[in-house]
Amino acid sequence: MKLLAGKTALITGASRGIGEGIARKFAEQGANVAFTYARSAEKALALAAELSALGITVKAYQSDAADYAAAEQLTEQVVQDFGRIDVLVNNAGVTKDNLLLRMSENEWDTVVDTNLKSVFNLTKQVSRIMLKQRSGSIINLSSIVGMKGQAGQSNYAASKAGIIGFSKSVADELGTRSIRCNVIAPGFIQTDMTDALGETLKAEYLKSIPMKRLGTAEEVANAALFLASDLSSYVSGQVLSVCGGMNR
Ligand code: NAP
Repeated sequence: MKLLAGKTALITGASRGIGEGIARKFAEQGANVAFTYARSAEKALALAAELSALGITVKAYQSDAADYAAAEQLTEQVVQDFGRIDVLVNNAGVTKDNLLLRMSENEWDTVVDTNLKSVFNLTKQVSRIMLKQRSGSIINLSSIVGMKGQAGQSNYAASKAGIIGFSKSVADELGTRSIRCNVIAPGFIQTDMTDALGETLKAEYLKSIPMKRLGTAEEVANAALFLASDLSSYVSGQVLSVCGGMNR
């Protein structure tokens, strides 16, 4: 029996990287998958076509996770198309790194809106559906940077720390209706986001990872599969680090 058979998942930002890995893993495990992207239409449509061949329903939606009204419209559309939402993965995220004294208001706002406000936007809309269903699993992508901070990433660290407090509060509010809310805090994962760091910085970061390698999107997706499935039916309000031992 596939772990997510009969469940519908909505994943934000699944055209590339970790979100794509989660969409693939969920589809392989029998879930119907609705996912969003911001700009990568070609990649998103190709992924939807590829995963549909597994015999499940898959649909890609262009939707800006930072936009409150767009999240409302998206949720309505997904419910029309799929009938229900059992799992929400708030994965969409960006970086705009800069030292505090050089950081512009736009760099702050873009990162906080895309990474943190988006989690409020989608969780609020989807929780209405889950409340009616009296079940659901919400998984929010934070980062170990949200727990320990990182020079040049005060905007990103603030957004990722905010996700943890938000998720623990949601787990507290919605637990009585069997809606669980958990956080995944990846370390350094091989995606476009970490490719942008450049080889010198990456080599420096590698020294601080006990396992001495970057993680893969699939390794994060395996944690998401656990939190999405009934294997984690009594797990809520938790932060699961997927970081090769960095966060101890
Ligand atoms: P990525 O490779 O840069 O992919 C980002 C994804 O988010 C893309 O699908 C992108 O869509 C989408 N996206 C960006 N802005 C969006 C918006 N406003 N609305 C909807 N979708 C949007 O990033 P990643 O490395 O896979 O990271 C995924 C998540 O994990 C992020 O929240 C990130 O902060 C977190 N994380 C990553 C790492 C890491 O080492 N990679 C570590 C810790 C945490 P388009 O393709 O259309 O642009």
